[in-house]
Amino acid sequence: MSVRVVARIRPLLKNTEIEKDRIIETYGEASDNKTTVRIPNPKVPAELYSFHFNSVYDDATQAELYDREISPQVRHLFKGFDVTIFAYGVTGTGKTYTMRGGKSLADRGVIPRLLSSIYRRARKIEKDTDGETQVEVRMSYYEIYNDKVYDLFEPPEQRTPAGLPIYDNRGKTVVVGLTERPCTSLKEFEQLYDQANVNRSTSATKLNAHSSRSHAILRVKVIQTTGDEVRISTASAIDLAGSEDNRRTDNNKERLVESASINKSLFVLAQCVEAISKKQARIPYRESKMTRILSLGQNNGLTVMILNLAPVRSYHLDTLSSLNFANRTK
Ligand code: ADP
Ligand code: MG
Repeated sequence: MSVRVVARIRPLLKNTEIEKDRIIETYGEASDNKTTVRIPNPKVPAELYSFHFNSVYDDATQAELYDREISPQVRHLFKGFDVTIFAYGVTGTGKTYTMRGGKSLADRGVIPRLLSSIYRRARKIEKDTDGETQVEVRMSYYEIYNDKVYDLFEPPEQRTPAGLPIYDNRGKTVVVGLTERPCTSLKEFEQLYDQANVNRSTSATKLNAHSSRSHAILRVKVIQTTGDEVRISTASAIDLAGSEDNRRTDNNKERLVESASINKSLFVLAQCVEAISKKQARIPYRESKMTRILSLGQNNGLTVMILNLAPVRSYHLDTLSSLNFANRTK
């Protein structure tokens, strides 16, 4: 079981951010092998804080991040290990860009690239074994908002406000009534994924909550069948709720409830990642709904935590708290 914690700093946004607002510097032994982020103390700008990561991506392309961090995990997935990828960060720092990405081929994020790798490998295994091994891919996609689970395959108007119930069955946590869709090709996956993402944005308007206040959890089950031997592993990709402290800026009751629930789940997540990376026997994954459903750290798997950061001063305090969060996970 292992964890990698990597930082990704997005570029300046054209039109709104300028070079002189940049406050983050990155260092490493080589320009393509950075491991340190430096940022000034907001009160004493001459004083710099340093934070260390397994890797730091400063203005990297989608392909660079995927090829170095995620692509190597696909082999483990097919060996039967679970792979879990989180995008953590303040709203506006690039979580959704990292996970989903843009429309163009070059802009595609971690999720479409991962699925593309999975199908390529599946077809190769089937070919190499002359069809003796069959690979099936199934997906579920849901969001957790205010500690309630909503199926993203369900149109928002059909949702029950209480969300889907969860229960434990033989050591596994099951979401009752969650849709699991077989997808036989990348094209089929992308259709289902795009449609579910439309449900995500319309539900955000309906619940009077921006999608930045829910965790979006995609789970892709890979089922390899050879004769009567079945091997199942799961890749999970999570676009986390924005980690900003809403209490500071938007002080109404609804926001406070949301914040409390986001803070708690992110806090438990940090504790779980820390426990995994320190190889502690007890991982407190049952203490939040998100980590409980993911059974985080229970199945000999690999976790990649991507810490998304904006390079500019307007994010200074939030960037510091993100960096402190990541520090706690090591
Ligand atoms: P979040 O999901 O964390 O709120 P987004 O993914 O929506 O943030 O990113 C905020 C804005 O920054 C978007 O306009 C997005 O296209 C842009 N952006 C984020 N990361 C990058 C990147 N690595 N390269 C180019 N644009 C980026
Ligand atoms: Mg987003």
